Amino acid sequence: MPADQLRRTRIQDLLQSTDLNREVLVKGWVRTRRGNRYVQFIALNDGSGLATLQVVADAEKFPEESLKEVTTGSCIAVRGQLVASQGKGQAVEVQATEIEVLGTTDPETYPIQRRGADQKGISLEELRKIAHLRPRTNTFGAVLRIRHALAFAIHDYFNKHGFYYVHTPIITGSDAEGAGQMFRVTTLPPEHPPRTEDGSVDFGQDFFGKQTNLTVSGQLEGELAAMALGSVYTFGPTFRAENSNTARHLAEFWMIEPEVAFNDLVDNMDLAEDFLQSLVKYALAHCAADLQFLNDTYDKELLERLKFVTDNAFQRLTYTEAVEILKSAKKKFEFPVDWGTDLQSEHERYLVEKHFKKPVILTNYPKEIKAFYMKLDDDGRTVRAMDVLFPGIGEIIGGSQREEDLTKLETRMAEMHVPADELWWYLDTRRFGTAPHAGFGLGFERLVLFVTGMTNIRDVIPFPRFPKNAEF
Ligand code: ATP
Ligand code: MN
Repeated sequence: MPADQLRRTRIQDLLQSTDLNREVLVKGWVRTRRGNRYVQFIALNDGSGLATLQVVADAEKFPEESLKEVTTGSCIAVRGQLVASQGKGQAVEVQATEIEVLGTTDPETYPIQRRGADQKGISLEELRKIAHLRPRTNTFGAVLRIRHALAFAIHDYFNKHGFYYVHTPIITGSDAEGAGQMFRVTTLPPEHPPRTEDGSVDFGQDFFGKQTNLTVSGQLEGELAAMALGSVYTFGPTFRAENSNTARHLAEFWMIEPEVAFNDLVDNMDLAEDFLQSLVKYALAHCAADLQFLNDTYDKELLERLKFVTDNAFQRLTYTEAVEILKSAKKKFEFPVDWGTDLQSEHERYLVEKHFKKPVILTNYPKEIKAFYMKLDDDGRTVRAMDVLFPGIGEIIGGSQREEDLTKLETRMAEMHVPADELWWYLDTRRFGTAPHAGFGLGFERLVLFVTGMTNIRDVIPFPRFPKNAEF
């Protein structure tokens, strides 16, 4: 094949190739260049994997002067021979015959260069300020590839188990579920919105003829679909304007919400447990190099913790039992625990990390601290809720069996001041062919947080949205 018809090969594929002594073309970003008067070594990465390709440039062909634009961060195309490597650390390398600089980088102003070729010497916090460039580091390359693998594994899991993927709306007309913490969607002029006679903003003149918001969950619409398709799931962006400046909350995050007709609470727990274990197994099987890197760089117990989750059944107990354990715990909590209070992350993590030392599923919470749609238990005090709690994370999944009885549901809505008239369409599922059903919401970034061992949720999404931050 004439050289100019040579197609680019991904570095990841080349590194696994056994078909040596052939001409190849690679393109990527320079991680480092080093060497001496006789030979220069360029570490090239094209994002296809963590490992870099060693490009060897002999001084005879490439006097140092000719390589002055080949600096960290620059983008180059290299033609050469794929040969067995003399050095250790790699099986193959490319003996360059032609190097073309596609894009130069000024080493003085390149922020990643200035602070070292990788995150070493530059904190994750500083990298957040240059989120537009951080994918070029080994850390974010690894995180983004793992994130991709998990997204793929989620669709794969549901597809294999007979679930249908439904797209629920991002703009919603109901604020029933998350009153007070939603982002408003409007085209009304902020300075002079039209007003009604009593002086309030006239949303009748807004784009949709009513108040609309960004969704906080696809669940209610997911339930509509489950009452027709049986097993469904949503996987989409959700938005919460809650001002939680924590390492586990984002204002924009992705949520996976399966909803299954005829499932009860136990089926729901079985699904959640099998689903999470399958996803972690998938990552272990398909992201070995990236996980090993994160394990070695940040968290020596990461791989052990992941295997532990795949190998051990989750501990299941009721909220009431958990409160007893917490009350008799020797540890002093910042927030006191008593039956009826919502558990804080410190309590959740105590149960998982100290008491049971494995993932925990808590069930049957007091009805007062859970949503209106959860099925009431026979005692009338608790509901068929379940939260899955993970080490280092706390709540990773929140779900429940849903109240399928129209009268009981309407009673709960009235008690909790949820406007039934706005949710007439939701109540129709209970009017027409209602059925027991259950589902849950898995926060995608909390899953990625767990699998990568990162400690701040802002480091597992490419462009994090949190209070006072939407630059890139
Ligand atoms: P938390 O108590 O941690 O704020 P929540 O009870 O509000 O969570 P749910 O409404 O049950 O959470 O949402 C389902 C899942 O979505 C949670 O288990 C969690 O994994 C994820 N999640 C919720 N809020 C956020 C957020 N602000 N950022 C990222 N993930 C979130
Ligand atoms: Mn919350």
